[in-house]
Amino acid sequence: MIKRLDHILHGYFSRDARDDRVRAKLVETLYTQPASLAIGALCGMSVATTAAWMTANVWIWLAAGALNLVALARIVLSHWLAPGGKRRSAQVLERVYEAGAFSYALLTGTIAALTIFLDADTHVQVLAFGYALAYGNGISARNAGRPFIAIGQLVLTVVPVLIASFAVATPPLIVLGVTTTLMIFAMTSVTMTVFRTLKEQIFAAEASAQMAERMRELARTDVVTGLVNRAGLNHDMVEMLMVLPEERKLALFWLDLDRFKEVNDTLGHPIGDKVLGEVAGRLRSAAPESATVARFGGDEFIVVAQVADRAESERLAQALADAISRPARIEGHRIDAAASIGVALLPDDGPDMDTLTQGADLALYHAKVGGRNQICFFDNSMTRELVRRKEIEAELRAAIQRDELSIFFQPIVDLETGRIRTFEALVRWFHPEKGELRPDEFIPVAEETGVIITLGNWITAQAAKACAGWPEDVTIAVNLSPAQIRAPGAALGILSALRDAGLDPRRLELEVTESLFLDDDANTARFIDDLASEGVRFALDDFGTGYSSLGYIHKFPFKKIKVDRSFVSGPNIGRKSDAIIRAVAEMGATLGMDIVAEGLETIEQVQAVRAAGCTLGQGYYFSRAVPDYLAAMLLSQEAGRDGSERLVG
Ligand code: C2E
Ligand code: CA
Ligand code: CA
Repeated sequence: MIKRLDHILHGYFSRDARDDRVRAKLVETLYTQPASLAIGALCGMSVATTAAWMTANVWIWLAAGALNLVALARIVLSHWLAPGGKRRSAQVLERVYEAGAFSYALLTGTIAALTIFLDADTHVQVLAFGYALAYGNGISARNAGRPFIAIGQLVLTVVPVLIASFAVATPPLIVLGVTTTLMIFAMTSVTMTVFRTLKEQIFAAEASAQMAERMRELARTDVVTGLVNRAGLNHDMVEMLMVLPEERKLALFWLDLDRFKEVNDTLGHPIGDKVLGEVAGRLRSAAPESATVARFGGDEFIVVAQVADRAESERLAQALADAISRPARIEGHRIDAAASIGVALLPDDGPDMDTLTQGADLALYHAKVGGRNQICFFDNSMTRELVRRKEIEAELRAAIQRDELSIFFQPIVDLETGRIRTFEALVRWFHPEKGELRPDEFIPVAEETGVIITLGNWITAQAAKACAGWPEDVTIAVNLSPAQIRAPGAALGILSALRDAGLDPRRLELEVTESLFLDDDANTARFIDDLASEGVRFALDDFGTGYSSLGYIHKFPFKKIKVDRSFVSGPNIGRKSDAIIRAVAEMGATLGMDIVAEGLETIEQVQAVRAAGCTLGQGYYFSRAVPDYLAAMLLSQEAGRDGSERLVG
């Protein structure tokens, strides 16, 4: 019968993993109040002992003795097995509890039944029976978490009393038997209701905990690559830092894919996403198992790994770079990815995650400026540089108003006649404390902060004004940054500066670099067309330092190509650069373009580039960049002389 009941009540659960967890939780409730169990046991012991002592009956003494033993054993076990102490399986806990509970219940019921059978003193009967009933009902409520135990205990306490009542069968006892039977059903229903409520609550709590965990996980995952995102990285880094052994270091690699935008623009975002996924996979397999690999928005990735020393971090950085630069084939397109990598180490470069991240970011910046596809480790000079950049950034806006900036002019000379054909406008900043600042230092800052728009407009206006005062055949060249061209209304701004200065657009030349064409083709083409149709000319600056793609030269109406000064002077000078200059000059002659050699400092260089076919020259050999009054003086000297042979040599 007990087996059947067990089956029915245990079968109340459909057994799966979730039910087992609920069961474990509910079994725990059996043990949560060892004090209440102890009080119950002591009550039972005193009732049983009193009944035995008052009746002096051997059977009751035997039952009371057994009950005392069981009660003591349960008190001891409940302390020993209480949750939070030694971990036991829910099943063991449940079986131990069942054995104790059922034998205790049966003995309590038996003692009550015996007092009725033996027709003991009325008060003793009231005591034993009252206790049995109170215990049976109370316990079925307390143990509703495990209904099999609860109802089992109720039945085992009450059934002996029922048997005794119906056996003795006096009218009051028959009524007692009937009402007690009804009570068993009522209490069973109460127990099951409580149990269902408990179970539902546990399920609900579990479901919402699972949901919360899932949401947390999603919030930390990058959907495109499946790597962790910024939030996930922060979370993981805190954990990595906590378990970092004293003698180990944490290396942070900040990777930025070179020219990823091109992939997106030419092949489309779906392929761009696949490339990111591929890169993510490669980084994951190149990084150690325990490393965190995160995507940091856009085309940036961060790898954080434990390393033994700097050498290991260098090897790992190289491994990451190699993994990325292996060619990939994505939907039939061959992708040659490459990355710039900035690396910082903790504790060497900073004691906490913030300084580590900042260090790697600065190092990455240097890697990118240094020509991409490079690995750069953080060092302290980068911080000093950053501080200086920040100062420049803060002061640049005010510098224009405070009149600290001025335009200098460097002549570009006809290598045949020696006459000045053009002046290139080069900006100068005379800082009251820092002295003269080089444009190489503040133009990039102006580009990054957007100040270049205001600054560039100002430069164009000043340059146009100066040129308007020169002879008709002298032109002005102004350098343009890509950011200036991308600004809305850029072409109109330049045309209105020309109008204000009263300068013919054909006397303005805009110098642009190849970097312009890497970003936005349509916009750039429109800008160039708009101005070229008004007569403005374009020169391709610093040719030979970037892609040196001849494609741009054909696509856009360049009138001039300026061969970078590294081909004329500097460490790489030699036969090879000579051959390049020759090739470019030949092409210029065919296409009717002027070829300018930049950075001419000596007569030998001038003669060499002229022999190679360059038509124009610029450099310290002729003149440095000079203020406007000196530029005007150079022109008037030239006008007062006929032969300019002296200049060219
Ligand atoms: P760039 O356009 O290539 O300008 C030529 C640079 O070479 C100038 O440096 C010039 O002073 C220098 N240079 C000229 N002849 C010689 C020579 O014989 N030997 C050597 N070693 N150098 C020579 P600068 O004025 O410092 O300008 C540096 C760069 O800053 C420029 O390179 C240009 O990219 C940028 N820049 C200068 N002014 C402006 C401007 O007004 N607007 C913009 N957007 N960029 C500017
Ligand atoms: Ca230039
Ligand atoms: Ca140049």
